[in-house]
This record gives sequence, C-alpha cells and structure tokens, in this order.
Amino acid sequence: MTRLTDQAHELIAAVLQPGETAIDATAGNGHDTFFLCQTVGPAGHVFAFDIQQQALDQTSDLLAQAGFSNCDLVCHDHSQLAEIIPMSLHQRIGAIMFNLGYLPGGDHSIITQQDSTLTAVKAASKLLRPGGILTIMTYPGHPGGAAETTAVSEWINGLEENLFKTEICFSLSDSIRAPRLFVLRKQE
Ligand code: SAM
Repeated sequence: MTRLTDQAHELIAAVLQPGETAIDATAGNGHDTFFLCQTVGPAGHVFAFDIQQQALDQTSDLLAQAGFSNCDLVCHDHSQLAEIIPMSLHQRIGAIMFNLGYLPGGDHSIITQQDSTLTAVKAASKLLRPGGILTIMTYPGHPGGAAETTAVSEWINGLEENLFKTEICFSLSDSIRAPRLFVLRKQE
C-alpha cells in the first residue's frame, strides 16, 4: 500500500528534472525538501519555506547529513511565495509541494491556515513551468483541516481545464477525515 506522501514523490519524480528549481512550501521535518534536493541534484535548486525556525533547523540537519547544499531555507509565510521567489524563476519551477497541517513532533496548534494556504497555492500555480506539477496534501481530520480541504478542493475544481489538469488521490480509508492529495499539472 503506497502512502499518499510517497505517491506525491512518485508523481513528482516523473516530472521534475535534474538541474531544475523546485519549492517545498511547508518544509516541516524536511523529508519532502530532502526528496526535492535529491531529485534536482547539485545543478538544481530548492526553496524550502516554513514559518517555524524549528522546522527549518530539522530540515537543515537532514540536508547536511546527506551533504546537500542546493537549498535555500526561507523562514517565511508561504503566502509570500510570489514576492520571495526571484522573478527570473517565475513560470520556470518544475515542482511545488504543500504538505499542510502541523509539524509532526512540534506544536500542534501551529497549523496552516485556509486563507494563507489559498493565497499560496494560487501563487504557486502561477510559478509552474508548462508541464510542471503542484501537489497539495491536506488533512481533514484536525481542527480547521476540513475547511481547509474544502477550500483547496473548491479552488482546484474552479480552475480552467485548458490551463491545468487536476486530480485527487484518496487514502484507502473511506473516512472523510482521511488525508487526501490534490495534484495539479500546468498544461504544456
Ligand atoms: N513536508 C514536511 C515533511 O516532509 O516533513 C511536513 C510538513 S508539516 C505537515 C506542515 C508544516 O507547515 C509545519 O512545519 C508548519 O510549521 C508549516 N506551516 C504552517 N503554516 C505555514 C505557512 N503559512 N507558511 C509556511 N509554512 C507553514
């Protein structure tokens, strides 16, 4: 049984090329950032965002263990993505990941918020290159997570089909509280 987080990695690995730029919009403990750094390789680059320095420190440790030096760790709200990513990289990003919710092992009251999440995913969709991929893991089971999942779902459903191809991957569990993975691809 493939976990949705692994499924996100598999989908991105089929799209993201060595030498490209990628973004982890929620660095957390660094597993997704690590995967992106590995995938783009030393000639590529990753920007990893988190609002908690604790998360970026964890991520930094993980990257250092592997000797990865191709990542900028950005302690900032991801709703500022468009302002922080250099203009020269706009519409040139191969993959962007969001893994919403709280930092596992950290303070569970610090969670992603529906409004800033929507601002961020909208900005992210505009940063992708043609053929680029955006993945968004949502967790309806925690407080605020159901409303955030609905907001992401409504935004995805309202996107123009000629601009983006979208899909939703569900967990094997049929609980409405189970995580889900939204996938958006920019049409070539
Ligand atoms: N991708 C991570 C990994 O591989 O370990 C897991 C991410 S964790 C589920 C969610 C992270 O989002 C937390 O570390 C939290 O601090 C961060 N976060 C919450 N609100 C944020 C915001 N507005 N901008 C950026 N990061 C945020």
